[in-house]
Amino acid sequence: TFNMKLLVILLFSGLIPACRGSNSSYSLPPKLLLVSFDGFRADYLQNYEFPHLQNFIKEGVLVEHVKNVFITKTFPNHYSIVTGLYEESHGIVANSMYDVITKKYFSDFNDRDPFWWNEAVPIWVTNELQENRSSAAAMWPGTDIPIHNTTPSYFMNYSSSVSFKERLNNITMWLSNSNPPVTFAALYWEEPDASGHKYGPEDKENMRRVLKEIDDLIGDLVHKLKMLGLWENLNVIITSDHGMTQCSKERLINLDICLNRSDYTLIDLTPVAAILPKINKTEVYNKLKNCSSHMNVYLKEDIPARFHYQHNDRIQPIILVADEGWTIVLNNSSLKLGDHGYDNSLSSMHPFLAAHGPAFHKGYKQCTIDSVDIYPMMCHILGLKPHPNNGTFGHIQCLLVDQWCIRLPEAIGIVFGVLLILTILTCLFIIMQNRLSAPQPFSRLQLQEDDDDPLID
Ligand SMILES: [Zn+2]
Repeated sequence: TFNMKLLVILLFSGLIPACRGSNSSYSLPPKLLLVSFDGFRADYLQNYEFPHLQNFIKEGVLVEHVKNVFITKTFPNHYSIVTGLYEESHGIVANSMYDVITKKYFSDFNDRDPFWWNEAVPIWVTNELQENRSSAAAMWPGTDIPIHNTTPSYFMNYSSSVSFKERLNNITMWLSNSNPPVTFAALYWEEPDASGHKYGPEDKENMRRVLKEIDDLIGDLVHKLKMLGLWENLNVIITSDHGMTQCSKERLINLDICLNRSDYTLIDLTPVAAILPKINKTEVYNKLKNCSSHMNVYLKEDIPARFHYQHNDRIQPIILVADEGWTIVLNNSSLKLGDHGYDNSLSSMHPFLAAHGPAFHKGYKQCTIDSVDIYPMMCHILGLKPHPNNGTFGHIQCLLVDQWCIRLPEAIGIVFGVLLILTILTCLFIIMQNRLSAPQPFSRLQLQEDDDDPLID
């Protein structure tokens, strides 16, 4: 029985740490800082050196690949992270959009009409509406727009020329001295996306320089949080919206060869083109169908379900999806050496996620989550009731200290342990049975032997 006790203890001791409840630091309201470095492709982490980021990960968690949402562009993916919704559900379906009913246009430079954003409720709005809490943001897409008539209490109007340092200074100031306290903050930076487009991800020399700069910014961020005494109690998530892949002038799909410009309105071009036909839709579709073997042509109703990209008026009647590394162009359009927006099942399109703070385990790695899972995780950390979303809380449970979660090695241990206990119990049962059914004369003989002993003494 001693062995059995030991086994049971061994078996369950592995589970106890995962069951730890809220600790003392939770008496303060939990705080979360969400950071995005635009276009940070997941495998940059394996292919380049990031001493500061690796230190951050060593004391926190890492998700190596985040499967993002289709189309793998900036505005749609940043909105999915903060709403937990696929693009068809949150309504930001591209960086360039047109709404046929209202005849409104949306682009990176014309994004300020709340109409586009109001199909969903981002986490900073939900947080802002809580009693005794506020939100802050430095240029995260959508944070300078009154969505459902609410902006974060503290925010910056978007301007790409404002330095990372200035954004970080504002965010940390708001996190440290605000009343009611800032409990959710979001910070956005345009790199390494801009350089990824310019040089292409295969330009190792330039990307090494750019990614070293990113790592230094992460070093500055951690240093600043430590200096201000925010580091221990703040949860920090560092992630991105999408990856980047190499393009080439050898891989072009020229729409002008297949289609007259007078036949359609072009809403978005590459690598996912959005086509609004001016003539018969089927005619346009037939002209495009055999245009190139390096792109898929879909009528809206035939877009594959796995893209979750169909049920929204802002998705145009025909979309073209270029193969990885191919660029859709018109005669006169320019080429970027790196691009994103492609099929979200391509690993080159995936970003990563790293997190650190009292809510997260230390030194835990996980292969993958979906980007829509980040929203329910953030709501859980902040104690907010999530709006209906496409995320799965179970996918991120293992990252969190307050969740019970079985990882594969533990599961194998438990199965093995249970089998071992059952085997031992069976053996014990068989031995007992044999003893009980042993013939009586034998035990009497033994007793007599025992009785003899005191006489000898
Ligand atoms: Zn981006």
